[in-house]
Amino acid sequence: MLFVFPDYYKNFKCIASSCRHNCCIGWEIDIDADTAAFYETVPDELGKRLCKNISHEGDTHFILTKDERCPFLNCDNLCDIILTLGEEALCDICTEHPRFRNELPGRIETGLGLCCEEAARLILGKATPMTLEISGDGDTQDEIIRKRDEIISILQNRTESISERITEMLSLCNSKPLREVYHYVPLLMSLERMDSQWEDVLEKISQPQPIKDDFALYIQGRETEYEQLLVYFIYRHFANASDDEGMAERAAFAAFAYEIIYAAGMALFAENGELSFETQVGLARLFSSEIEYSDENRDIILSSL
Ligand code: SF4
Repeated sequence: MLFVFPDYYKNFKCIASSCRHNCCIGWEIDIDADTAAFYETVPDELGKRLCKNISHEGDTHFILTKDERCPFLNCDNLCDIILTLGEEALCDICTEHPRFRNELPGRIETGLGLCCEEAARLILGKATPMTLEISGDGDTQDEIIRKRDEIISILQNRTESISERITEMLSLCNSKPLREVYHYVPLLMSLERMDSQWEDVLEKISQPQPIKDDFALYIQGRETEYEQLLVYFIYRHFANASDDEGMAERAAFAAFAYEIIYAAGMALFAENGELSFETQVGLARLFSSEIEYSDENRDIILSSL
C-alpha cells in the first residue's frame, strides 16, 4: 500500500479560537459509534452535557445550538471536550477535519480541505510547486494516477500563463471548454446555499466584467495562488473518476473553481482597487464550503460541465 500526501500537509495546525469560520459552526457533526459509546461512560458534569446534547435520531450527532454552534464550542471558541478530556476524546470527524482521505486501488491519499481557512492559507500561500510525499510499497504506474501526474506537471509549468495551462489540461482530458463565468450564475443561484456571503459573491460575478486587463496586470506575480488552487482540485478529485467522462468532468471542475474564484477576485478588485491574500483565501474557502463540500452541489456542477 502506498501512502500519499502533499508536502504542506504536516505544516497544518488548527488555529482554533482565532478562526473566523470555525468548522464547529454551521455543520451537523456526526459521531462515530465507538466515540458515542465512550461518551456514554463519561462521568460528572461533562457526561451529563454529552447525554443531553447528542441525538441518536438518524446518524448519531451533536445537537447544534439555535445559532448553529456545536454545543461544546465555548464562548472563547474553544472545545470543552478537548479542554476536559483531551484531543483523544474527539470523535473521528473532529479528529480528522479538515483532512480528507481518498482510498484508491493500492494507495491511500490524504490532504487538507480548502473549506478550512487555515488550510486554504497553507495551500494558496505555498510559493514553490506542490510535491507529493509517498511512502510504503506498491505500483505507482496506475493509468489514472499517471494522467493526473501529467496534469499536475502541466498546471505547474510556470513558463506558461494560467490560462494556457488550463487550456492544455482541458484538451488532454477532452473536457468541454468553459463558458464565460456569468453564464453559470443562474445555476449556482439555484443551488442550496449556506452563507449569505456566497450570494453576494454570485451577484458580483453575474455580469461580464469590464476590467479584465487591469486585473490581469494587478494580479501578475500571484499566479502561484491560482496554480496551487488548481493543483489542489486535481489532486483531490481527479483520481476518483471512474471513466474518461468522469476525468473530463473533474478537470473541468478544477478549471470552473478557478474561473469562479478568479472572477470573484476581479469583481472585488473592481470595487476596492485591491485583492488581498486574505480576501483571496476567503473566496477559495467560500467556494469550497458552498460547492466542493456539498456532495449535491458538486454533483450538479460536475454533470453540467
Ligand atoms: S476551520 Fe480549520 S482552523 Fe478553523 S477551527 Fe476548523 S480546523 Fe481549525
